[in-house]
Amino acid sequence: MGKVKKIVKSITIVADKCNGCRACELICSAYHASPRYSSSNPARSRIRVVREPLRDIYLPVYAGEYTAAECTGRDKYIIDGKEYDECGFCRASCPSRDLFKEPDSGLPLKCDMCEDQAPGEKPLCVEWCDAEALVYVEREEEVEEAEAKPGEVEVGVESLIDRYGLQQVLDTVARMAKS
Ligand code: SF4
Ligand code: SF4
Repeated sequence: MGKVKKIVKSITIVADKCNGCRACELICSAYHASPRYSSSNPARSRIRVVREPLRDIYLPVYAGEYTAAECTGRDKYIIDGKEYDECGFCRASCPSRDLFKEPDSGLPLKCDMCEDQAPGEKPLCVEWCDAEALVYVEREEEVEEAEAKPGEVEVGVESLIDRYGLQQVLDTVARMAKS
């Protein structure tokens, strides 16, 4: 495979600047509502803020990859004297917790940088973060040509098969196709 130029988008989280206002959760869930902006439910947001005011912990975390596997071990982080929960920094939609799952269907959620092309100059959560805790950077890199990655629908079907089994998913699709 050859090399290709690629725009790499990244968001740096400056946790010390986060004040836990949750504006990022609000705009992300509203943007991804159907129809767009028709509702706002933080449980549907692809960024979630770990908030523990009594311990002065405010940690924005982006939804990452789906995984069907639970961790076999957990990590504990202590940074600047603050002890974070074992799953605090993890971005996965996984069976161990409800985070990053669409609340009605249970399908995994993942940050899409606002559907690959943000409506403004920056991803919406970055634009709405007045505290500048989220810093957006774009850079060009030469990378190996990527193999096709599974799309959102494929990841969603995989998660349904993990939960209900292939036969039940096939039976349901066949029943829906007939109705
Ligand atoms: S909008 Fe910014 S300051 Fe507010 S919770 Fe999100 S990351 Fe933190
Ligand atoms: S970049 Fe866009 S999709 Fe990703 S968490 Fe922020 S608002 Fe949501």
